[in-house]
Amino acid sequence: MSPTLVDRLAAIVGPTHISVDPDVLGSRSVDWTGRYRGHATALVRPGTADAVAEVLRTCRDAGVYVTVQGGRTSLVAGTVPEHDDVLVSTERLTDIGHVDTARQRVRVGAGVTLAALQSVVAAARLLVGVDLAARDSATVGGMVSTNAGGLRTVRYGTMGDQVLGLEVALPDGSVVRRSATERPDRSGGDDASVFIGAEGTLGVITAVDMRLHPVPAHRVTALCGFADLESLVETGRTFRDIETIAALELIDGRAATLAAEQLGLANPVPGAWLLLIELAGATDPTDRLADALDGIGVCAEPAVGVDAVAQHRLWQVRESVADVVGLFGPPVKFDVSLPLSAIPSFEQQSAALIHRYAPTALPLLFGHVGEGNLHLNVLRCDGEQESRIYPEMMNLIAALGGNVSSEHGVGSRKRGYLAMSRSPAEIAKMRALKSELDPTGYLNPAVLFD
Ligand SMILES: Cc1cc2nc3c(=O)[nH]c(=O)nc-3n(C[C@H](O)[C@H](O)[C@H](O)COP(=O)(O)OP(=O)(O)OC[C@H]3O[C@@H](n4cnc5c(N)ncnc54)[C@H](O)[C@@H]3O)c2cc1C
Repeated sequence: MSPTLVDRLAAIVGPTHISVDPDVLGSRSVDWTGRYRGHATALVRPGTADAVAEVLRTCRDAGVYVTVQGGRTSLVAGTVPEHDDVLVSTERLTDIGHVDTARQRVRVGAGVTLAALQSVVAAARLLVGVDLAARDSATVGGMVSTNAGGLRTVRYGTMGDQVLGLEVALPDGSVVRRSATERPDRSGGDDASVFIGAEGTLGVITAVDMRLHPVPAHRVTALCGFADLESLVETGRTFRDIETIAALELIDGRAATLAAEQLGLANPVPGAWLLLIELAGATDPTDRLADALDGIGVCAEPAVGVDAVAQHRLWQVRESVADVVGLFGPPVKFDVSLPLSAIPSFEQQSAALIHRYAPTALPLLFGHVGEGNLHLNVLRCDGEQESRIYPEMMNLIAALGGNVSSEHGVGSRKRGYLAMSRSPAEIAKMRALKSELDPTGYLNPAVLFD
């Protein structure tokens, strides 16, 4: 990168907020799993929306590419720079505004982590509708950009459902504010919704007006073990339609066993497949839970948590999966959405496919069974095996009526498969909007499109 461009960027963000140190850039150019690596020429950390916009304009005019980075927890290599990019980090956009308890909303900077926001709004007896295991690092801006789902989607919807308004620095270097609740004044880039799930290809989100929810007064959690996936899915189907459902999580029994063996985390229920169920509401849902559990085909008595300590213990079984999948090095990750009826068949066929190319690999299936959003992680799978399994897995998912890209987005890892998750008309619209807002294609060039 030319010294004059470094100087110009330093003048915008301040000299302490730009780095061209190869060690810093190296650590920022690898994805969360450590599997995919790129190359960047500078890291800039603007502190305001105007500074973000000026950085964008400067990079565009200099003809350099930009990759936007939030918490860098993308599991589809969405923040890996492939074009000697300037990395624009949102980590200094951390303002959290006044929590409006009457209107149940708050304005937050894009670089605020989910955990930081959760702790501020919890003090006002409110909660954020989306929760995920990467909460300590994942940022609000990154979560809007990927339209993240997670552990509470069955109750509150995705991140897009939490957005009331956005502030965005556009590729041309202007800053716009868009409401998600008012009608756009013309079609195209004026609508806040176009930036939700756009994975940073249309602009850098700098602030978000977030919808909040009251903390339910009562909560009850259960962990149930099943011998077969069919029975679990059937139970999931029943619970999904209960109005007080707050979480419905599938856990692979092999992951719980590994957590017990390797992490010392006791699993309170036996079963090849586990289902974590949580009901929450204004009145105590324990009786409703007991009624719904009556007669389901579990292996043993479910473990039930009625107080916060017991509930935390049950949730640990689910949360530990994030650690278990890294026990044998970076896993190969598939993030899929499937019709509930196809889940057992997907489990069997994917296991057979993995075994064919990687006989010693260990597949672990878990995720948000209420919406059919599942994560298949393949442990002990090398790069060569991955390259054989990946395309066939995509075909299998499509053949079962699933979507090859679920809540993690497309990133760079799945850009070659975009046509398997969006129709030709949708892709044409996405491309048209991209060329309208970013005609030179300098912003996040590695993600979404081939
Ligand atoms: C342990 C673990 C568990 C996870 N669980 C879930 C889960 O349950 N559900 C789920 O949906 N995801 C999950 N994820 C994936 C990840 O946390 C989400 O995709 C999250 O939304 C990414 O947020 P981030 O701030 O880390 O974004 P990053 O990884 O930094 O970026 C993600 C994408 O958004 C772009 N981007 C980032 N910030 C902005 C911005 N301000 N404006 C414009 N573009 C931007 C980036 O360029 C990139 O393309 C998990 C990840 C991990 C590591």
